[in-house]
Amino acid sequence: SRTRKVAMPVGSGAAEAAKRLKIIETDSREKLIPKLRVESRRQYLEKRKEDKVAELEADIIDDEYLFDENALTEREKRERQHKKQLLQLAVEHEKARELERIQRYHMPLEKGKTETESDKYENEAPQSEQSKWESQQMTSAVFKFGAQNRKNDKNHELLLDDEIEFVQALRMPGTDENKRLEPPEEVEKKKVLTTIEETKKSLPIYQFRRELVQAIRDNQVLIIEGETGSGKTTQIPQYLHESGFTKDGKMIGCTQPRRVAAMSVAARVAHEMAVKLGNEVGYAIRFEDCTSHRTIIKYMTDGTLHREFLSEPDLESYSVIIIDEAHERTLHTDILFGLVKDITRFRPDLKLLISSATLDADKFSTFFDNAPVFRIPGRRFQVDIYYTKAPEADYIDACVVSILQIHATQPRGDILVFLTGQDEIETCQEMLQERVRRLGTKLNELIILPVYANLPSDMQAKIFQPTPPGARKVVLATNIAETSLTIDNIVYVIDPGFAKQNNFNSRTGMESLIVVPISKASANQRAGRAGRVAPGKCFRLYTAWAYKHDLEDNTVPEIQRINLGNAVLTLKALNINDLVHFDFLDPPPHETLILALEQLYALGALNHRGELTKLGRKMAEFPLDPMMAKMLIASEKYRCSEEIASIAAMLSVNGAIFYRPKDKIIHADTARKNFHVPGGDHLTLLNIYNQWAQSDFSTHWCYENFIQHKSMKRARDVREQLVGLMQRVEMELVSGISDTVSIRKAITAGYFYHVSRLSKSGHYKTAKHNQTVSIHPNSSLFQDLPRWLLYHELVFTTKEFMRQVTEIESKWLLEVAPHYYKPRE
Ligand code: ADP
Ligand code: MG
Repeated sequence: SRTRKVAMPVGSGAAEAAKRLKIIETDSREKLIPKLRVESRRQYLEKRKEDKVAELEADIIDDEYLFDENALTEREKRERQHKKQLLQLAVEHEKARELERIQRYHMPLEKGKTETESDKYENEAPQSEQSKWESQQMTSAVFKFGAQNRKNDKNHELLLDDEIEFVQALRMPGTDENKRLEPPEEVEKKKVLTTIEETKKSLPIYQFRRELVQAIRDNQVLIIEGETGSGKTTQIPQYLHESGFTKDGKMIGCTQPRRVAAMSVAARVAHEMAVKLGNEVGYAIRFEDCTSHRTIIKYMTDGTLHREFLSEPDLESYSVIIIDEAHERTLHTDILFGLVKDITRFRPDLKLLISSATLDADKFSTFFDNAPVFRIPGRRFQVDIYYTKAPEADYIDACVVSILQIHATQPRGDILVFLTGQDEIETCQEMLQERVRRLGTKLNELIILPVYANLPSDMQAKIFQPTPPGARKVVLATNIAETSLTIDNIVYVIDPGFAKQNNFNSRTGMESLIVVPISKASANQRAGRAGRVAPGKCFRLYTAWAYKHDLEDNTVPEIQRINLGNAVLTLKALNINDLVHFDFLDPPPHETLILALEQLYALGALNHRGELTKLGRKMAEFPLDPMMAKMLIASEKYRCSEEIASIAAMLSVNGAIFYRPKDKIIHADTARKNFHVPGGDHLTLLNIYNQWAQSDFSTHWCYENFIQHKSMKRARDVREQLVGLMQRVEMELVSGISDTVSIRKAITAGYFYHVSRLSKSGHYKTAKHNQTVSIHPNSSLFQDLPRWLLYHELVFTTKEFMRQVTEIESKWLLEVAPHYYKPRE
């Protein structure tokens, strides 16, 4: 009967259902095993976590529930055995973690080892590093805090119970031998550049400005390579403006991979040129255009320029395009390479600059028909690199300890810490504040400043303010501070060795945000940040062995590891149909391209010949993921476009909506629960938005309800833009339906790829590939366990968590995605 119909992904015959289930299980099993066999840093740390143990346990129970031992092939039996061994291993690692805490020791006060010793460390496994350390300890090769400074020594006792031991394994040489031994104190005295003019002249690029402008005049395409902080991003557009490249009213456009960088750099340049931000100098990022008809220098994200091609395919309003931070190799930057290369052929007046920190210049040159490379000699002081003795399982805690160790024992100079995201930064900040508070006045002032993508701009500006005498600044940053932003006076870098990455599994079509080990190239960029103003120190919270053996040489470009849905949609909208032969610097994997095409087909954006449909053209108008664009457009049919616009806006504010002040956690959590409505998180977000709107967008209301006013304001801005775009594609704005079914159906119409169902064992499995996923503890449905769920995104921390989930009915899937789901007979 109709009610018993259950949706199954296309390709599954009913007769084969049981068999299929098994095939998928086998698939996921194959996937799991190589994943765990590789002893990468992350997995090593991962296995220490109790959650991981629990997950492995659950997986084995699941497996045993579904498949009888007798029915397994030999290979499957071995795999099951292997899983059990992994579990055993994970339990043991958990125990070892306790042991490791005891092994923490001192931070060296002075440099001790020379480069020649570094190789020894890097080639030794952690165990032998340990024994080596013990013997060195005896011969005092590791430095203790001496009587050199009694005051420090006294402070230090307070921290002694919790310290990390570092070994120096390497010295990254500086670029100028004369500056090698300059102590940080002297640099600080010297570095009082008062005027903007002086500061500009002090940048390495300044000496080369004439040659650079001449090279740009002489060549249509120029690759510029220079050490981070040499002045490429802030100075080159100004030099070009001064040299007349904006005379005819055309703009100099400069792309940045990150939003914060675009905003911050634009603010800086406006300040240097003494103009109001948004007038002559402006920026454009998704959902925010801070430019005017007067703008001649425009900073923007690479995604924004990519979208500008849709409205202005020849980029007529620009005289110069700078693709900056090209080495970051984001998806949009990579696609821009192909697009701008094409344009230079029919716009000989357009100048194209590709600017990159290091290394890749020759590769860019080859791609751009052997364009000349202009190298700006950098300037850097030596940086001593320290590694931990043993792996640190809790790297946030290790950061806090290291910061305090530096603060208590090391000479002047600010600290830069690399964390993976806002949540980690906030945790670290809280822990640090708590520790500092307990230490009271025994330590000098420590100014703690966070930097991440969603940080309001007034807070961003703070990181650039000079540190008052006597105080020390510690900047907690995402890898935005790796190359995009340069903060002066950093002398110490703490690098836990991780970054957040968007990853896409082309086999399963699953996309998820995960924390991964950084590459050696990144690690070295990070270390380099310590040597800009004085000889610096970089503390890596991993072992020399891990550096050598666990870190890849280079980061894989985004185009080869993320979902291409949005990129393919915009390219199709630019009439680039033959994607296989598009001029890619590094082509994406074939299967990823196919998957993106399949997804767009299932969403109705492409027809069976792979051409853009009317719906697809509409979807391309939205600067959104294709799924979200589809959801918005479908909302018209379900008579709830106003509601869906609010939901889309709330989902797009990827910063936190709620805040939980430490002293009011219970109040905050109650307030959050009061917003919960039946149906799930999407409806809860709508509820929050509507209540805020009813309060007349009141700040006070936010405050009372523990809601972040800044996030809500942003949601309102985003919503306005979305509504504008909806009107542009001539959608009818309707609202007021009282049942939530229509709203949830409209969401499903976009997100039917992101569906999971409750399995008999009590775990959620994704509909298409039977991967185990869990409801995020923050969800309103965390304890409900409905049969079918739709999720907004997957985030991998200790396991795959579904974030923002909504309860759906399986029969809706047949209604909204007949291409993709078919009924089970
Ligand atoms: P590059 O692009 O070569 O890495 P930048 O042009 O970004 O170099 O940086 C040059 C200088 O400008 C650095 O010393 C940096 O500290 C300074 N700077 C950049 N942005 C800001 C800002 N928002 N406020 C203050 N100083 C800044
Ligand atoms: Mg730059």
